[in-house]
Order: sequence, then C-alpha cells, then structure tokens
Amino acid sequence: MLHWDRDPHRRYNPLNQEWVLISPHRTQRPWQGQVEAAAPDGQPAYDPDCYLCPGNSRAGGARNPKYTSTFVFDNDYAAVLPDTPIERFDEGGLLIAENEPGVSRVICFSPRHDLTTPRMEVAALRLVVDTWIAQFEELGAIPWINHVQIFENRGAMMGCSNPHPHCQVWATRTIPDRPIREHKAQGEYLRTKGGCLLCDYLALERARGERIVCENEAFAALVPFWAVWPFETMVLPKRHIASMEQMEDAERDGLAGILKRLTARYDNLFSTPFPYSMGFHQRPTDGQPHPEWHLHSHYLPPLLRSATVRKFMVGYELLATPQRDITPETAAARLRECPEVI
Ligand SMILES: [Zn+2]
Ligand SMILES: [Zn+2]
Ligand SMILES: [Zn+2]
Repeated sequence: MLHWDRDPHRRYNPLNQEWVLISPHRTQRPWQGQVEAAAPDGQPAYDPDCYLCPGNSRAGGARNPKYTSTFVFDNDYAAVLPDTPIERFDEGGLLIAENEPGVSRVICFSPRHDLTTPRMEVAALRLVVDTWIAQFEELGAIPWINHVQIFENRGAMMGCSNPHPHCQVWATRTIPDRPIREHKAQGEYLRTKGGCLLCDYLALERARGERIVCENEAFAALVPFWAVWPFETMVLPKRHIASMEQMEDAERDGLAGILKRLTARYDNLFSTPFPYSMGFHQRPTDGQPHPEWHLHSHYLPPLLRSATVRKFMVGYELLATPQRDITPETAAARLRECPEVI
C-alpha cells in the first residue's frame, strides 16, 4: 500500500517520460533560504516609459500604433530569424549543430498596462485567444515552420522585464525538445493503447477529483499527478482536439473563462501577482493531422510558500531528478480553496 500523502515516493510523467521525487514528510522543514522581494502592486493604466503601451516608441526606433485591442509585432530582439539559411554541421556524430530559422513575435493582451489576465473581462481575454489562434494558423501555414510555441513569462521572478501583460510566439523549423518528447509519448500511446493519452488521463483525473482545481463545460484545470513545481497546473480541453484552431466558438470562450478563473486563484493564493511561465503545447504544423495530439497548456509557477519564498531547481534536481515536498493533492486542495475573483 503506497501512502503518497506521507511516504517518500516517485511518480512517473507519461507525457515527457520523466520521474519526479516527492517527499511529503519534509513540508515542515524551516525555510532559511533566499527570500525574494514582493512583486510591486498597482501599475498605472498607461506608462509613458513602457515600450509596449499604445503610441510609445520601442528600442530600435519603431513606434507602437494607438492600438485598442490586442497588438502583435515582430520581436525587436528576435531569438530566431526567418532568413537564416538551413545549414548543418556534423563531425564524427559528436559535434552537431544546425541553423534554426524561425519567427519571433510579441503579443500585447490589451492597451492597458495594468490589466493582468485575472483582471481582464472574459470578452477581452477571448480576443487574446483569437489572436493566439490567428498566429498559430498564420505562422503554422509557413511551409518551413513545424512548431509554433506560444508562451507567457509573468513577473520579474520569471525574468519578465515588462509588467505590461503580453506573451510571445516563437515559431521554428524544428520541434523543440519538450514538445517532441510529448509528441513521441502521445504517438506511442496511440499505437499501443489505441487511444489518446491525455483523454484517458483527464477521464481518470475527473473520476478521482482530488487534483482538479476548476472546470467549465469545455476545459478542466488540474495539478498534474506528476507536477514538479509546487503549484504547477495543466489546462486541458475536454474534447479531443489537436490544436487551438480546432476549438469551436464556445470552447474559445471556455478557454478565456478558465484562464481568468485559474489565474485569479493563483493571485489569491499568496495575495500577490503570481509569477509563472505558461505556454501551449499542440500538434506540429507540418501539414499532418496528428490524431495523437491533445491540445493543452502548462502553468509553471516558482512560488513555494509565500509571495517571497520560491522553489529552486538545484542540486539533486539538476543532477538527478526533480523533487518536491508538498504533494500535488495538497497543492490542488489549496488552489480549490482560493476565490476566483480578485
Ligand atoms: Zn505598458
Ligand atoms: Zn485526447
Ligand atoms: Zn505539454
């Protein structure tokens, strides 16, 4: 009998085929580590020094239009560039390098400098969802683009240099490491079990209930059984869809709604704007239908026990396998207790 609420144990992540070590008996240990500065509260609606606010000029000289909804532009300091020639270097199978052409863009959620996801209206968040879909379709249609990564870094703790709510899209010729692992795992599962890994997983979680944070008609938010970060969550559509443009109208509203509710719970957990990296995983854009793929997003927040105490990935985690103290069940229960409005 495995007592996962008290005994050290490890759990398997079937999506990326890694293990996480869980040490529930350690949650009482005193914290003597680093304490972060609390995130500043209260941003102005417009900041004349913000390079993302409407009408302001950006580094590099471009000036933002006086936009009134979402706003998309090519990153002034792009990590990947579309005109990179495709070259490969291989010496003895040990020194391997290849060029990575791509497109890198920034998406501002709204003209408002101060309106974070939990404070936006669902109708305004729906415009963000529509913009994500439009970018996925536009960049995915480029013949040499095979992966479109949409992601958001929120908060200085996650290295986000500007509080104006925005996210990024990096679209590349190759499928990066994390999505390719999930791609292989879902393909293997479909071949051996004849079904979808995440449809089966979601059915199990909804039957058990203990790790579900919140749900609506179209989506569920849960703390994965194998979560690594203390309050890590996944958001999954209840219907089997491989990518975001396959969402029906009501599902697009459903995604906007659940993102608002989940991020409000996060902000209420430690009464602070909750830092995180979030992003979507979905099918490659190589023109194939990819029935093995189930669209989802991951929220990876670093905070552990307060607005100023974060989890570090160090030592054993860097050299062996990720480890956590608070169980995913406890984390889900804590998030369920948080109000959905701020
Ligand atoms: Zn701004
Ligand atoms: Zn599925
Ligand atoms: Zn994923």
